[in-house]
Amino acid sequence: MIFESHAHYDDEAFDPDRRELLEECRAQGIEYIVNVSASLQSVKTTLALADSYDFIYAAAGVHPSEVGELNEESFTWLKEQCRHPRTVAVGEIGLDYYWDKENHETQKYWFQRQLELAKELELPIIVHSRDACADTLEEIKKAHTPELRGVIHCFSYAPEIAREYLDMGYYIGVGGVVTFKNAKKLKEVVKMLPPERILLETDCPYLAPVPYRGKRNSSLNLPYVAAAVAELKGMETEEVIRITNENARKLYFQGRGL
Ligand SMILES: [Zn+2]
Repeated sequence: MIFESHAHYDDEAFDPDRRELLEECRAQGIEYIVNVSASLQSVKTTLALADSYDFIYAAAGVHPSEVGELNEESFTWLKEQCRHPRTVAVGEIGLDYYWDKENHETQKYWFQRQLELAKELELPIIVHSRDACADTLEEIKKAHTPELRGVIHCFSYAPEIAREYLDMGYYIGVGGVVTFKNAKKLKEVVKMLPPERILLETDCPYLAPVPYRGKRNSSLNLPYVAAAVAELKGMETEEVIRITNENARKLYFQGRGL
């Protein structure tokens, strides 16, 4: 059974067939899904999904490109949503210097505030980092404590950077990009990752793996990701699926008795 560690099923790309698709995921062996929010509005839609499906859990947080909507009042509201019984993580949070929609100081400020929130509520973090390698590492090191746990999702940096995160105890999220021919750096990273630190993710509707690259992605494509990871690690696909499922349970469900 596959654990989908990062999806966006509240995205409008799924409006035409969301229920059918989610039922199909369940029928095809997707055991759990963590639906990740990116804005205050998507915190609401993510929690609505988690309330409607017993195999979907929520991550509540504001993406670096959307932090302009945060202020003390909305942050207090976000904190309440993080206390919701279906919320299992704070995310996605981080730094995005590729889209660069908010200035770097604003992004860092709200990243730190959400890191502190995760520590206060003892929730794991889901980190988004794009073209912001050095600053993300610096901000996480600033906030890090041995109790803080989390995943660096859609990891796109070098093996030496992955090593730094592994040394602090973080998981590395691997998705469809690992199946792309030109993803040399990520393939190197996957080769050095201990299997017990890998999470499988889609980031759907984005980043569909080969042979569906460019199409709408869904958790139904996760076996392609698992197979690519298995090939790089010299493992069986089933073994990758089993170990990454255990990893995700440990990260998201610790202390929840699931
Ligand atoms: Zn995402």
